Amino acid sequence: DVIDSIQKQFIFPPMPDGVSQDIDHILEIQSALAVDLGGTNLRVSIVSKAGEIMHMMSKPTPSDNTARMESLLTLLVDASQIATKLNCRVLGVGVSTGGRVNPHEGLVMHSTKSLEGWSAIDLRTPISSALHLPVWVDNDGNCAALGERKFGHGKGKEDFLAIATGTGIGGGLVLNGRLVHGSNFCAAELGHIAVSIDGPACMCGSSGCVEAYSSGLALMREAKKLHQAGELIVDGMKIDTNEIISAKHLIQAAKLGNKKAEKIIHLGGEALGTAVISILHLLNPTLVVLCGVLAPTYVDIVRETIENKALPSARGVKVQVSLLKEPALMGAASLVLEYATRR
Ligand code: ADP
Ligand code: MG
Ligand code: ZN
Repeated sequence: DVIDSIQKQFIFPPMPDGVSQDIDHILEIQSALAVDLGGTNLRVSIVSKAGEIMHMMSKPTPSDNTARMESLLTLLVDASQIATKLNCRVLGVGVSTGGRVNPHEGLVMHSTKSLEGWSAIDLRTPISSALHLPVWVDNDGNCAALGERKFGHGKGKEDFLAIATGTGIGGGLVLNGRLVHGSNFCAAELGHIAVSIDGPACMCGSSGCVEAYSSGLALMREAKKLHQAGELIVDGMKIDTNEIISAKHLIQAAKLGNKKAEKIIHLGGEALGTAVISILHLLNPTLVVLCGVLAPTYVDIVRETIENKALPSARGVKVQVSLLKEPALMGAASLVLEYATRR
């Protein structure tokens, strides 16, 4: 104890007269509770100011609003208790969610069928009532861009696009150093840029959107079709009878030489590349960051599509795979860490 107290005095010299400061308070880690609610997974974590994920919990996204809100609040209350044990001082809650979000109101305005019913949902009021903390909310694509800007490839970049791949396809756009929300919080809805006049049906109700070709759900749809035709499984692959066929199996099959699987994935990558080209021609950013589970699968095809089809002056754009484990979650944390009042 004596040595401990000497060490503390050494690291933290006494405060000037009239100022007292509790040592344990100084040793607390300033942090944020961060939520990422997607079409498939709900994640809640504690993120430190330095960008370290101190703790992470996740569960499948419940399919109705009541259960979604309940799970979200339960996980947050659990996380705040764990934060205390980890000596983390929580500055606020940042929420990344699918759907169109009004960040001023902390309100999810509207979602597609990927998050059925998740429309006109006030997230700020119930979360701040349950946790007595300030709450920030934004769309998951926007949060991915914010995560990249604070901790990833977007650091110091004035103009870049983040693409979030998961159940759907989301986007976030930073222009002149600022995140673009648009007049009605619908900017950078990259997933619903059309790459075909007809094309497959999209979760948004339209058809031919890039999300209907390139998302996790789109690949899952195609994987199931192939499987039903008995054309998915190739040598070296084993699928249990109760396993749900998904994008993962399609990617695995393509890697093992399944030409049909490979073709579907190539089409997904080409569709994404085509949508990206439209944005390059509209805004000419310096960088595109591919985030999420499908980023490594698509990156080369997106680069190749840009090389083949973009205007020569737009081809110089850098296309990089995110190095962050959870870009949207990090962006949600950054909402808190950037804006919370600091002592
Ligand atoms: P969301 O944020 O939309 O909930 P996630 O980022 O958690 O989604 O990713 C879930 C989606 O990614 C699902 O569509 C799932 O099938 C797909 N997926 C999960 N793991 C893999 C993988 N290893 N390879 C390809 N797709 C995957
Ligand atoms: Mg997501
Ligand atoms: Zn759509």
